[in-house]
Amino acid sequence: MAKSTKEFVDIVDMDLFAGFLKENKLTKPTEVQAEAIPQFLEGHNLQVQAQTGSGKTLSYLLPLFQKLKETEADIKNQKAGSPRAIILLPIKELAMQVSDECKKISHHAKMRVRLALGGEKGKKVSTLKKQTFDILIGGPGRIKSMIEKKEIRLDELEYLIIDEADQLLDMGFMRELKAIRRHLTSSYQACLVSATMADDFDMLKADFFSGMEFKSVSLVGSHGLSQTIETFNIALDYTEKNAMLDVFVKKEAKGSGIIFVNQKEKAVEVYNYMKQAKLHKNLYVSHGDITAKERSENFKKFKSTGGILITTDMAARGIDIKTLQWVLNYDLPFEAVYYIHRSGRVGRAGRAGSVYNFVTKKDQKLIGQINDAIKNQDTLKIDPIFLKSMAKKSGAKKVAKKVARRGPAPQKKTSKTTTRSTSRTGGHTPSRTSKTSRGRRR
Ligand code: AMP
Repeated sequence: MAKSTKEFVDIVDMDLFAGFLKENKLTKPTEVQAEAIPQFLEGHNLQVQAQTGSGKTLSYLLPLFQKLKETEADIKNQKAGSPRAIILLPIKELAMQVSDECKKISHHAKMRVRLALGGEKGKKVSTLKKQTFDILIGGPGRIKSMIEKKEIRLDELEYLIIDEADQLLDMGFMRELKAIRRHLTSSYQACLVSATMADDFDMLKADFFSGMEFKSVSLVGSHGLSQTIETFNIALDYTEKNAMLDVFVKKEAKGSGIIFVNQKEKAVEVYNYMKQAKLHKNLYVSHGDITAKERSENFKKFKSTGGILITTDMAARGIDIKTLQWVLNYDLPFEAVYYIHRSGRVGRAGRAGSVYNFVTKKDQKLIGQINDAIKNQDTLKIDPIFLKSMAKKSGAKKVAKKVARRGPAPQKKTSKTTTRSTSRTGGHTPSRTSKTSRGRRR
């Protein structure tokens, strides 16, 4: 993670945050924090686009807490059920993560944070109308229904944060957002955040925030990812995926990781396969059909015990688990933006991480599209060249052997752009491809 030349003392109130920063061993602001925090504190509406894992969450949480604290004494008779700030996020796991981060700060800053979840926590939420609190975190659907049921009111809202804004739009939450907006009658400061969203920002601003001026903090090109990720491609036939998974988990995968598939049925199938084959003792599965309660329990367990999580895109975006070491695209995603978000689960906060791709012949077109979309992301490029050498068919066992023969996990490499590909036909030849030669091939 790129650190700035500034110190925290230059940009935030240390009386408020010294304890939190020390407790969490945060010594220097990241680049996005150094850019966004002063502008947020000056009162600008912000659109923040930065790499996943770049410290975006604190880039809005720290100034939000500071500003709320600065004016706390002026707020006389704050009404119950009337938050001063809301943070909207697309999925529960993310809301829980941001809430956990908030609680670490609020513990020092003495501010009241509440999490509004649907499903299993719904009952607790209905008591919010009797409570006085500062920050409310939740999904747009839940917040909208709470407003309609008069459990909360937003007529005195001062700050509106929309995190993972592009996914909110992808998931079709515009109607809920607009319904919420009708209840924002005071003037408020807005902050929109995401890793991948230039076009979506424009749509959101035109549709939702028309008339409001935004300052832009953008630390990447069109898409952003940490530069500490290595990419490894494994060429195989569609029918060989499970056999290769076997070998991958036993020989290659070290530490905790996430396996991405494209469909919920596949997530269940892969999970059952791995369980039956006893591939790992800590296996978890998550997808849209699992109840919210189970999903959050699984997620919590996975976070604390480590292991392997098998999931679809919707259940995993934005998830920040410090100990994650690898991501396997069992299926390559249909859209480049998901490839970026999947890969962004590793290599966070400057740590190393590996992305493995199962690449079948029919994935070539997808690879082209992904590579087009991830300009300036050398570490993520998928090199499709080896597919050309897939002349003959060979059985899964043979492929499995080839991978097994290549021995232990990938060595630490000096080049950040290394791509290892396994060919099913010419024997296993780990290939290190230099930046320039890969550049020519693309
Ligand atoms: P985010 O991009 O907000 O999901 O943050 C990614 C990771 O970076 C999280 O694990 C944070 O705890 C960590 N982080 C945030 N700010 C800093 C900082 N200034 N120095 C080191 N790590 C940080």
